[in-house]
Amino acid sequence: MPTFSDQITVLRVYDLGEADRIAICLGKKTGKISCVAKGARKSGGKFSGKVQPLNTGDALLYTGKSLNTINQFEITETNLKIKANLLKQCIGIVIAEATDASLEKEAPSEETFFLLNQSLFCLSDAQFNSMILYSFLLQLLAITGFQPELTSCANCSNTITAQKIMLSTSSGGLICSDCCHLIHDLVSVDQDTIFQLKSMQQFDWHLEKSNADGFFVSNKAAEFIEKMYEQSWGKKLRSLEFLKKNFAS
Ligand SMILES: [Zn+2]
Repeated sequence: MPTFSDQITVLRVYDLGEADRIAICLGKKTGKISCVAKGARKSGGKFSGKVQPLNTGDALLYTGKSLNTINQFEITETNLKIKANLLKQCIGIVIAEATDASLEKEAPSEETFFLLNQSLFCLSDAQFNSMILYSFLLQLLAITGFQPELTSCANCSNTITAQKIMLSTSSGGLICSDCCHLIHDLVSVDQDTIFQLKSMQQFDWHLEKSNADGFFVSNKAAEFIEKMYEQSWGKKLRSLEFLKKNFAS
């Protein structure tokens, strides 16, 4: 059976049979893959406690027809600080669900792998978690070809000069005063919301880790990103609905 090795992050798992576990993972080189971890639910087995969502590690796998089989898995990052905090854990699950939902199987996306792992790294220590979540979603939109237009008009490309700023999800960004009458889903927003969206779009996970603290995400900015996600991938994030219901600020 052909084998391959890759660095993988577990996005979600479900049970198979008596003792096995199926894991949907994002591989750095291989993209989104489905794998079976045999005996993963048995205590004392070689995968016991290892094949869990948000764990990253070096894996050796066998290629199968519909499923790959994990032969070895050495964990390099368990994201323990995320798992020890219920709010952070829920955000981590939203990040994993969005990653899963936005990728086709086995389409390599090293950029998404880095975005996923950098955002989880920042989430571990950040005080203001919503900034991490919404920066992640905005940058995931950009990687998958749905980057919102926040500088000029999304409909005609004109520079936005009006005092009154209008945003449209269906058009994918700002709308100028000339195009307003053509668009049905306009929302009026202030400069601060646009500033927030641009900051999150450009958020540098390496250089500006500390800048995540003290950054407040307005309801309008959050709503725009959620609607953009829904429109681009055709579904709501179930874990985000759970998060909002249970951790309303
Ligand atoms: Zn326009």
